[in-house]
Amino acid sequence: MKKTSVVVDSFKDSIFATMSKLAHENNAINLSQGFPDFDGPGFLTKAATASIQNGDNQYSSYLGIEKLRKSISFYLNNFYKIERDSQSEVLVTTGATEALFCSISALINPGDEVLVIEPFYDSYVRSIEILGGIPVFCGLGDDLLPDLDALTSKITEKTKLLILNNPHNPTGKVFSQGFLHNLSVIVEKNDLYLLSDEVYEFLVFDDQNFFPSQTIDLLKERTITVCSAGKTFGMTGWKIGWAYGNSNLISKVAKVHQYTTFCVSTPMQHAISHGLDQLPSYHKDFKKLYGGKRDLLKNGLEKVGFEILANEGTYFLTAKYDKLSSLNSIDFSMKLIKECQVATIPLSPFYSEGNQGDHLIRFCFAKEDELLIKAINNLNTL
Ligand code: PMP
Ligand code: GLN
Repeated sequence: MKKTSVVVDSFKDSIFATMSKLAHENNAINLSQGFPDFDGPGFLTKAATASIQNGDNQYSSYLGIEKLRKSISFYLNNFYKIERDSQSEVLVTTGATEALFCSISALINPGDEVLVIEPFYDSYVRSIEILGGIPVFCGLGDDLLPDLDALTSKITEKTKLLILNNPHNPTGKVFSQGFLHNLSVIVEKNDLYLLSDEVYEFLVFDDQNFFPSQTIDLLKERTITVCSAGKTFGMTGWKIGWAYGNSNLISKVAKVHQYTTFCVSTPMQHAISHGLDQLPSYHKDFKKLYGGKRDLLKNGLEKVGFEILANEGTYFLTAKYDKLSSLNSIDFSMKLIKECQVATIPLSPFYSEGNQGDHLIRFCFAKEDELLIKAINNLNTL
């Protein structure tokens, strides 16, 4: 058979689904794939049902329903003082994943290089490769910040785009305003685009401020930002996301989206618009709920002997386990499933080279408290 353009690494390409499947098969507590095991707010399910019953069941504009685009534009202004026109600078997509793919497709040509900070979320590298681009990797230092000199040294004539994930999955790091400013100088000086994945924008803890990339002057007009209602409302299966940026960039992303899916489920868009309008009160309860879960799991894991990295944002904790085992991260996560009935994510698939991240695993704490407590008890038998 002739060779296809897509290479599949069966483990790396399905790490989240594989670990969830292994959790199920081994009757293990699933702290691996990132999704809550409880429902999002009732006002959302009610709004979705009402919308279906009201007959909002046909195609929407390919950009998304106007009401949702207006709600997005409003919260961006209300929370961050970012001004984006709902008519031309906001695009509704099938989750953040589709927004990321369409944005990369709109921005790069085959042969272009894309800077990716590792550990990285899995879809970036595969999307770049599928689109004929070349991923170029830059690691994090012990402070969990990318080394900006090392990053600059990797920029060539062919470098078109940098992908940043803030708050960062899997480390839980939240990049500061100062760091973003320093990065923006490099982006502007080298005439790069920035794709800013901010799906965990409302999961930032301990009164820390979150600065979206488009609040930084030099990044405003060269950034596409991607967000996810799945994360913000704890409804990952609804697959509603959005991208925003200047109209020139968004019109190109919208063109790819138009011929990829055309538009997103209309009744769910109505529900998310209602949800975003509740954000000013909802986001405080949301943060409190997840902050409590973070503390519960973090304290428990530390008592077991794990060393937790940043934990400033997202619903993940990345833990060093070198005091507990010398196994590599895949073997260690298998051991945890089999011996402790706790499923986690090994970090090595988040890196370009197999043996990096080998002393690290990721736990998801978007789970009921009693499950987190049970997981900690199980891990205490290690
Ligand atoms: N980016 C990151 C960093 C993620 O963790 C996820 C999680 N699932 C996504 C993008 C994809 O989001 P969505 O489910 O909205 O496609
Ligand atoms: N974002 C989720 C995580 O990091 C997984 C999403 C998926 O399974 N594709 O666990």
